[in-house]
Amino acid sequence: MQVFNSLTRRNEELKPLEGNEIRLYTCGPTVYNFAHIGNFRAYAFEDILRRVVQFDGMKIRQVMNLTDVDDKTIRGANAAGVALTDYTKTYKDAFFADLKKLNIQPAEVYPAATDHIPEMISLVSKLIEKGVAYKSDDGSVYFNVRKFPGYGKLAHIDFDHQQTGARCAADEYDKENVGDFALWKAWEESDGPVGWDSPWGRGRPGWHIECSAMSMKYLGETFDLHTGGIDNLFPHHENEIAQAEAATGKPFVKTWMHCAHLRVNGEKMSKSAGNFFTLRDLIEKGYTGREIRYVLINAHYRQGLNFAFSALEDARKALARIDACVERATDGEAPDWAKAHLDDFTAAVNDDLNMPKAFAALFELVRDTNAHGGGSVLGVFKRMDEVLGVIFFGKAEKAEVPAEIQALLDQRAEARKAKNWAESDRLRDEIAAAGWLVKDSREGQSVTKKA
Ligand code: AMP
Ligand code: ZN
Repeated sequence: MQVFNSLTRRNEELKPLEGNEIRLYTCGPTVYNFAHIGNFRAYAFEDILRRVVQFDGMKIRQVMNLTDVDDKTIRGANAAGVALTDYTKTYKDAFFADLKKLNIQPAEVYPAATDHIPEMISLVSKLIEKGVAYKSDDGSVYFNVRKFPGYGKLAHIDFDHQQTGARCAADEYDKENVGDFALWKAWEESDGPVGWDSPWGRGRPGWHIECSAMSMKYLGETFDLHTGGIDNLFPHHENEIAQAEAATGKPFVKTWMHCAHLRVNGEKMSKSAGNFFTLRDLIEKGYTGREIRYVLINAHYRQGLNFAFSALEDARKALARIDACVERATDGEAPDWAKAHLDDFTAAVNDDLNMPKAFAALFELVRDTNAHGGGSVLGVFKRMDEVLGVIFFGKAEKAEVPAEIQALLDQRAEARKAKNWAESDRLRDEIAAAGWLVKDSREGQSVTKKA
């Protein structure tokens, strides 16, 4: 599998540093609000990435952090007058529900920042010991960027021409304002009840130290792959490298991958610009998680994607076309023409996740299947869907029905054949009591789990 490494700015083979497992760290959400579909573009890209790794027969260990303490979460909790943990819990729960709707595979670990304060304090202490970090008068701790020679290697900053020495307390700043960044922030009035004791007094961790501490805890001091949206590249990822490598003296991450932004009218979708849609907004408008997923994964991850409702309408049509074709597909040895499309698909996803090409191969398969009036291509669709996660297999769906519900459904089918309507209704109620809704149609009965 070839991927574009933001660090070397080249396409490189992605293969595990150790054994058969890719260790992946993905920067997760700040849980102060519902995530918007721009955020989900990043998570959908990472989902495709982890699926292709597995498609290729490798294992994956993905860690995604939950930023549950920072300026925004503290402001939100204090404004609402609730404890920080109560405030963030709402948005953590919402986040996981949204991931499910988008059929995004769960990461192996979701560490929350507030559960790892001791690890962060110990990393900051180490950086002070090494002489690359210092305490300021107010009890904050800063990383001295001039003490780490590699600073700027990810963002390719020409450091010699920067004026430095300034200190930046905010977590986010741009390349023109490179300066010492906060590892630990001293408690302030506006923090209210939020704070932890440390060797430097009461305070809280900076955002960047969180990811260095938690990634190394769960993936080791050197690991394979680290990703995020392109806005994370600087300063966040640059700072993660500085913190980790200054502390361990080892290379932190081999491969960095970044996805381009989801835009609205040419502008980055963001909370602050106010030009965002949450997943909930779109679902309320009648679009499905599957349609939204389709739109998010369809473009190449390094290409800007402009959000438009017409794309959701196109997704609906495309999915209907795929569904109709899958219904005609059967099991069995795939014909050569279908295998050729699978080969194209495989080559495309292994070429730096070329999803436009992968979808082209899928639609060639649809076209040829229709031209043949069907065919034993179900296995090919299923194999492609290991990566795509958008194809609806009516039969596969039924397989998720628990055995005891299926047994009741079978009994009910018998009862209906015998025109025993009372028994049929009784069984329907019994199935409903177990949490499933039965629908009868000309094709027979189908069930859905009650929401
Ligand atoms: P945040 O909650 O702002 O830290 O963002 C969480 C993730 O979403 C990060 O990986 C960001 O880079 C990514 N992200 C934020 N906005 C967008 C956008 N408009 N398009 C794509 N990714 C985004
Ligand atoms: Zn991060």
